[in-house]
Amino acid sequence: MKFIIWLLIGYVVYQMFKGRSGGEIPAAQPAEKGEETFRDPVCGVYVSAEDAVIGRHEGERLHFCSMECLEKYQERLENK
Ligand SMILES: [Zn+2]
Repeated sequence: MKFIIWLLIGYVVYQMFKGRSGGEIPAAQPAEKGEETFRDPVCGVYVSAEDAVIGRHEGERLHFCSMECLEKYQERLENK
């Protein structure tokens, strides 16, 4: 009987840790596997296809975290 109580406590603690670590994904880290992510060539942040600002360069699709980075990238190309 005692064993079951410890198992229950262990389970509750496990759920607490799980709840705390889950949710927000740090921007600099690749998102959870299964979700496709792209690296912003300007600031190096990983963005999901859903959140990305998509730019094009020579037929290539580029994914940016924001319009700001897209503009910076375009500026760099122009100044080349
Ligand atoms: Zn960026």
